[in-house]
Amino acid sequence: MKQSLACFALLASLPLLVGFKFIDPPRAWHQNDLPLEYWVGDAQPAGLSQSDTLEGIEQSFQNWSDVPCSPLEANFAGEIDNDTSGFGRPDITLFTFDGGAKDDLGSGPLAATVTHSSNDVVTHNGQSFFRTTSMNIIYNEGLSWGMPEDIASPNCHNRYDWIGVTTHEIGHGYGLGHSCDDGEPCPDPILRWATMYWSVSSCNDSQQIPGEDDHAGINAIYGVSVDFEVEGDGDQASLVGGVPLTITVSVPEDFQGDQYSRYEWNFGDGTIQEQDADELTPVSHSYEEEGQYTISLLVEGQDEECGGFFEADQRKVGVVLACEEPQPEFGYQNLGEHRVQLENTSPLGAFGCITGFEWWVDGNEDSAQSSYEPTLSFDEPGTHSVTLRASGPGGSAEYTAEVIVTADADEGGCDCSSSGRVKGEPLPLLAALLLLAVRRRALRRS
Ligand SMILES: [Zn+2]
Repeated sequence: MKQSLACFALLASLPLLVGFKFIDPPRAWHQNDLPLEYWVGDAQPAGLSQSDTLEGIEQSFQNWSDVPCSPLEANFAGEIDNDTSGFGRPDITLFTFDGGAKDDLGSGPLAATVTHSSNDVVTHNGQSFFRTTSMNIIYNEGLSWGMPEDIASPNCHNRYDWIGVTTHEIGHGYGLGHSCDDGEPCPDPILRWATMYWSVSSCNDSQQIPGEDDHAGINAIYGVSVDFEVEGDGDQASLVGGVPLTITVSVPEDFQGDQYSRYEWNFGDGTIQEQDADELTPVSHSYEEEGQYTISLLVEGQDEECGGFFEADQRKVGVVLACEEPQPEFGYQNLGEHRVQLENTSPLGAFGCITGFEWWVDGNEDSAQSSYEPTLSFDEPGTHSVTLRASGPGGSAEYTAEVIVTADADEGGCDCSSSGRVKGEPLPLLAALLLLAVRRRALRRS
């Protein structure tokens, strides 16, 4: 029921402005990746000095930062060799010029943008986007370009608007498609005057400043954001600890206000808790079972400046680690010549819940050694008690068992119980070091 009301509110508040489109498939920047850094090729298009080129790009980013509610920010990282550039840079945001570059625009477009993304998904206002990693923008160097004063001048001489076109291309890089495309009927002047309109003539500065439709598009992708804080409770100030682990979540004042109406917490362990905006107090929650937990907050509200109804969310992935006490156990195998391979069969539980293993022989804890799975060497057959201690945020526990050392190797391999470990993965170097240490101690005892 809430869902359908929300959709009604969205449509009612934006009757004519929904002209903007997303690029296909939808891609958006994650707020953790902002401000983005951008590089510029060390060549200049005709009509522009180096400082015009750089100032124009900076102003174009600023145009999108100035959109109400926009979280978008960008910083100039430096110049880069124009010849090694192109559209194939998923790793950096890059502006280059097609003369000499590998992606020649020919006589077609003024400029073009490729937006790279990872397979991560960002959600906003109920829409899923692939997480953008970079935008690569290439300009047609066969054209003549101008700064705003050139474009507005009677002596414009068929120059194209450097800032208008750059703002348009950055709009693609931020995830916007065209307000109207080539061949599409476009009766609404709001859409024709949009920065994201599909074409612009020379000596035309109509794309310089994003308009209403561009604002609506940016707010649909980035709009109102939300964030929250997580703290440990009482003497357990950490978010890592033994069960039961109690934490407290709260919403900073920046993300409270009249425009927010409903908050919904998801603690990642199946617990969901709703809060009305007018009763927004910190919420405590206890984790009873071992696990690594992601906490997320969904917020709904209404903000006319930011495009009407909004739904924003924020996730803190794996922010809480609650651990039970470790349960160490092991088996062993005689390798022959009084050498024993210990086999660590302790359940490892949630990642991070065991931070260390220590082994010692015959109660000699002072010479305990850290290793995942050591080999012991003795001088003669006999029975020894071996202790394994496992430690972690949930505490530490010990397990002691008798190990019968023989001169001959066990037949048919290990008679120990084996459980969930990937062979050969942990700590091969430490195991080798421990082998030396144990050997030396055994010799001293003889
Ligand atoms: Zn375009």
